[in-house]
Amino acid sequence: MTERSTPRIIPVVGHREAGLALPQSLRNAQSPAAAGLLTDARGRPLRDLRISVTDRCNFRCSYCMPKATFDKDYPYLPHASLLSFEEITRLARLFVQHGVQKIRLTGGEPLLRKNIEVLIEQLSGLRTPAGLPLDLTLTTNGSLLARKACALKAAGLKRVTVSLDGLDDAVFRTMNDVDFPVADVLAGLDAAQAAGLGPIKVNMVVKRGTNDHEILPMARHFKNSGVVLRFIEYMDVGVTNGWRMQEVMPSAEVIARIHNEMPLVPLEAAAPGETAQRWGYADARGNHDATGSEIGVISSVTQAFCGDCNRARLSTEGRLYLCLFASQGYDLKTLLRGAESDASISDALARIWQQRSDRYSELRSTLGADAGGPGGRRIEMSYIGG
Ligand code: SAM
Ligand code: SF4
Ligand code: SF4
Repeated sequence: MTERSTPRIIPVVGHREAGLALPQSLRNAQSPAAAGLLTDARGRPLRDLRISVTDRCNFRCSYCMPKATFDKDYPYLPHASLLSFEEITRLARLFVQHGVQKIRLTGGEPLLRKNIEVLIEQLSGLRTPAGLPLDLTLTTNGSLLARKACALKAAGLKRVTVSLDGLDDAVFRTMNDVDFPVADVLAGLDAAQAAGLGPIKVNMVVKRGTNDHEILPMARHFKNSGVVLRFIEYMDVGVTNGWRMQEVMPSAEVIARIHNEMPLVPLEAAAPGETAQRWGYADARGNHDATGSEIGVISSVTQAFCGDCNRARLSTEGRLYLCLFASQGYDLKTLLRGAESDASISDALARIWQQRSDRYSELRSTLGADAGGPGGRRIEMSYIGG
């Protein structure tokens, strides 16, 4: 008798749905001038564009791409669906005219996208309406950084953020779930520093009971390194990671742990809309010791910061998401490939941003922590980037 195989169920995630088409009212309305002054329905400007260049990754961090879902049969986007570098740059130029000053490349793992340096070179040529270059950065798991740091710098990348969830090799291998050694990421960090891709930030997602014992070793390691270490609360992004509030370690607890051994002082926010709260090390008198590196905490779960959120996200296949927790995005690829003029796409971007009112993190407690975002089925972090 042959054993019958159980049918495989692929969870429904947002990007399998059709993208949001632009309502006629958005398409036919009169164009607002693209002078970098755009604000949304809550008065928030558009400053930060995160562009996902691939939905694939060589890691399987359980909080992002758990192996059970992201296995060899997972339906990743086919190549023809991805925006080309020319399409990305064309959109980026229009976003910049509307006020974007910072572009972050992300994914999936952005360094897996073939010839990413070519895209970086194109983006580095863009200028704001005031004639300034962009703050062009990239978030990476660091696995390919040792090999690529020099080429990225030469292409015009300003700086990198590297994700690193612990220094202990066994913990790190468990977190990435592909047995990748921590030494290779540390070598990537060194290469990025040597190439001048700074100030470098290191992001550590803290999962209580999994890697919270790595908080102090990480703080000690980076204290005098010139690297800004940031602790991120484990977020309820997507629908596949089995998020539970019990596994979230509030930033206040992270800070208390470090402060107990190495006293900290709060620092002012460097820019409006900044996601991280900044801390510095204290000297013997309790004042800020500027020779120590900075610590940041990103408290997306315990302290919502939607009020200043100036971030838009462009998915690998050209959908524009107005919130990390959105369930649908606006289909810009159809506009790009439908012979629309720059003016008409620029107009569409303005109309979309002007009606934005998203503030999921502020509503999380009223929606219930386990509820979906608006529309219920949230997109995955690996699809939209961090
Ligand atoms: N692969 C790259 C990396 O890991 O840096 C870029 C993409 S990754 C989706 C971007 C950031 O999102 C990483 O710093 C990662 O740690 C963070 N991230 C992913 N899932 C998360 C979650 N559930 N909660 C908090 N941060 C998360
Ligand atoms: Fe890959 Fe980054 Fe997600 Fe980890 S967090 S699985 S490295 S995309
Ligand atoms: Fe921005 Fe949405 Fe995050 Fe709030 S929940 S900070 S609106 S991305």
